[in-house]
Amino acid sequence: MTEVHGGTTSGRVVVVGAGLAGAKTAEALRERGFAGEVVLLGAEAERPYERPPLSKGYLTGSDEREQAFVHEPGWYAAHDVELRTGVTVTRVDRGAREVHDDGGGRTAYDHLVLATGSQPRRLPSPGSDAFVTLRTLDDSDRLRTRLAEVGAAGGRAVVVGGGWIGLEVAAAARGYGCEVSVLVREEAPLLAVLGERMAGLFAGLHRANGVDLRTLVEVGSVEPDGSGGARLGLTDGTQLVAALVVVGIGAAPRTALARDAGLAVAADGGVEVDAHLRTSDPRVLAVGDVAAVAHPFLGARVRVEHWDTALHHGETVAATVLGHDEPYDRLPYFFTDQYDLGMEYTGWVGPDGYDEVVVRGDETARELVAFWLRGGRVLAGMNVNVWDVVDDVQALVRSRAVVPVERLADPGVPLRDLLP
Ligand code: NAP
Repeated sequence: MTEVHGGTTSGRVVVVGAGLAGAKTAEALRERGFAGEVVLLGAEAERPYERPPLSKGYLTGSDEREQAFVHEPGWYAAHDVELRTGVTVTRVDRGAREVHDDGGGRTAYDHLVLATGSQPRRLPSPGSDAFVTLRTLDDSDRLRTRLAEVGAAGGRAVVVGGGWIGLEVAAAARGYGCEVSVLVREEAPLLAVLGERMAGLFAGLHRANGVDLRTLVEVGSVEPDGSGGARLGLTDGTQLVAALVVVGIGAAPRTALARDAGLAVAADGGVEVDAHLRTSDPRVLAVGDVAAVAHPFLGARVRVEHWDTALHHGETVAATVLGHDEPYDRLPYFFTDQYDLGMEYTGWVGPDGYDEVVVRGDETARELVAFWLRGGRVLAGMNVNVWDVVDDVQALVRSRAVVPVERLADPGVPLRDLLP
């Protein structure tokens, strides 16, 4: 193998997991000039696709299925990437430097990239087996069909969980004409992520769009109707008849391979990696949902289950394999589209929390930028129906500057004027 500053341009990189993070890793290796073999192993039959359309444009019917895919079908062969779909890796043998798969095959590696993603949590309630979760393109295909059927019949879709899946599915379901109930166990949806004030904005949005949003409630009992629906007994003593139940109560990172291989796994479940995305074994890297990254700017271990992370981790992997010193230092970023609301969020509040939320713009019209601050410094920002401000918000976060709150709240003051 050719060594470049401790890295290599040859040998074989095996990527386990053919989602966005895996596919972008293969792409980045080729773009950066890695000349060795690249093998991309995916459990699903589909070639790699992106997930945002699954709960947004494709689910609502505005995007074509084909738009979800990361690359054209011919891209893999054209870039000498060996894409093997329908292959589940069952074991990593770090001693022999090979992975075992469910077909009895073994694939040797020089570098291994774990891009195994997450799996949706399911409700523990007996009778909930027929409830729908949304993770794969197949799931989205099926859910689209069911939402259209339930909507056409004027039936009710019940969404359990007020996170991103829950709210995006609720918005899509209203678009199909379904009656929609959303069950949230906290006082408001998205409370843990956004706090009371901005969570209230999303609650108001859904209620204004006809959603029966119920808070401080969970599913108690389930009487399945045999066709995917159920009579639900709720913990507040009420009952709901659902033609369709969608469960969006979070996802768990798939770390079994890493754990079984003796790699360090963080308390919150992610695979511990350094800023170069190397696990406790420098030949094994991790990307996307599973990677708990020692983040240089944030000074903490950060695991982000969002599209932007999956999109960009591969660039760092390629740099690391090639021997370049390019730590992963991007600030977390995500977005959502619900009804006529578009939002982007960037930054990171972290375990110490925030002590102030500052809003510039019009909360009633849902056209604003909100900032989360601690000690006068901006930790994160969210623009709602306001565009082209993410770079400025990120610059504010990176500056660590103490910002005058009245100027931060004033839409007449350009955000870059607040930079030191
Ligand atoms: P999520 O965003 O983590 O939200 C899960 C929600 O379910 C949380 O509000 C959580 O409340 C609640 N919950 C947990 N256990 C529950 C239970 N037993 N009963 C009722 N509620 C419960 O997860 P998600 O919406 O399922 O999405 C799955 C993954 O896809 C996440 O990683 C998410 O970030 C990602 N995703 C992102 C986007 C986007 O960026 N726009 C869109 C779709 C999906 P607590 O806070 O109280 O635990």
